[in-house]
Amino acid sequence: MIIHNKFHNKLKCKISKYAKLVLKKLNKYGYQAFIVGGSVRDVILNKIPKDFDVTTNATPEQICKLFKYSRIIGKRFKIVHLFFKKKIIEVSTFRGDHIKKNKKIRNKSQKTIHGMLLRDNIFGNIREDAFRRDITINSLYYNPNDFGIRDYVGGIKDLKNKKIKLIGNPIIRYKEDPIRMLRVIRFSIYLNMSISYKTSQAIAPLSKLIINVSPSRLFDELIKLFNKGNIYYTYKILRRYLLFHAIFPHISKYFTKNESSNIELMIKLILKNYYKINKKNNISLVIASMFWYPQLNFFFKNIFSIKKKYNNECELKINDSIRKISINLLIPKKIILIIRQIWKLQFFLLQKKSKTNFKVIKHPRFYLGYMLLKMRANVEKTKELKYYVNFWTNKKFNF
Ligand code: ATP
Ligand code: MG
Repeated sequence: MIIHNKFHNKLKCKISKYAKLVLKKLNKYGYQAFIVGGSVRDVILNKIPKDFDVTTNATPEQICKLFKYSRIIGKRFKIVHLFFKKKIIEVSTFRGDHIKKNKKIRNKSQKTIHGMLLRDNIFGNIREDAFRRDITINSLYYNPNDFGIRDYVGGIKDLKNKKIKLIGNPIIRYKEDPIRMLRVIRFSIYLNMSISYKTSQAIAPLSKLIINVSPSRLFDELIKLFNKGNIYYTYKILRRYLLFHAIFPHISKYFTKNESSNIELMIKLILKNYYKINKKNNISLVIASMFWYPQLNFFFKNIFSIKKKYNNECELKINDSIRKISINLLIPKKIILIIRQIWKLQFFLLQKKSKTNFKVIKHPRFYLGYMLLKMRANVEKTKELKYYVNFWTNKKFNF
């Protein structure tokens, strides 16, 4: 273990007062406590930390006894949330080594046949905790009392060399918790660092394990990933590591070598324009666009254009498509509702009955539906689609 002192001045000023308060109180009652994880990493890199995580040798129950406004959350991995006005400080208890601990304690940890950890509530000391974290640069412990950063895994060296390196054997660590594959990619993009050879090589062969992560956790991680950096570049990286294929099998089965299918052209368009479109609901538009060709285009073109009526059959088809996109991801209801509206609008946008015009233009999702229509015209380049894009562009500005 190395203690680095030279970052003290930087950290001293940037650590939130609530985090300091938590450390002080835990220390006062005889517990060890450190700031750990993303905040230490970000301060050293001159970035503004999103939040401050604290780790201690006090158990979740002991922590709760000390703080009035606290709550234990998580089952797989218990942590305590401490509430301070609008801020939450997350406090975790040092995790221990699964293998070394005796059998009695081991029932607090459970693995699936794939090696995935269902529970990780074996407690240990700071050194063991350092080796249970995901990547080296996330395993730095700062203690304002002795001004030092404790580094058990070479995190400072990797920060300097701009390397994302998984702690331990990458194969075992990805199997324990496949979300780490996405975290590695997220940090490499966010921090503009390269992924070390072994950490990177193990991802593609294990990519299929990603679907064992709970659908809500997977969705949250994808949102974090897409909120950082260039979203089109992120997509290309996910493709390269076969993670995109594992998460979206209904899309990737249509992928081509030269990336020229309608689906791929659509994905490229929507992701390249992601930041230009509209600040609020673009994630709904991204999902609605990504699944348009694999799920709905054929149906709309054939069945729909003959009957020219939005009927029960269309509703069923939309439901079926929603079910398919929700296989691996738990998409919040609010987003699903908007996706549904964008798809439904595609029908009404291919009609020019004056009665419905007004309703369509006034529809709260008109803009998103119109954007999908515009991208479809761009991908397919048909006269009909181009005609309707012009039609609605003119209407939009005349209303
Ligand atoms: P940010 O909050 O900026 O996204 P972070 O590194 O703080 O980054 P968190 O998700 O807040 O990420 O997690 C806090 C810390 O907990 C991490 O820095 C890491 O040490 C540890 N950690 C988080 N997820 C895992 C995981 N899946 N496996 C092992 N350790 C993890
Ligand atoms: Mg954090």
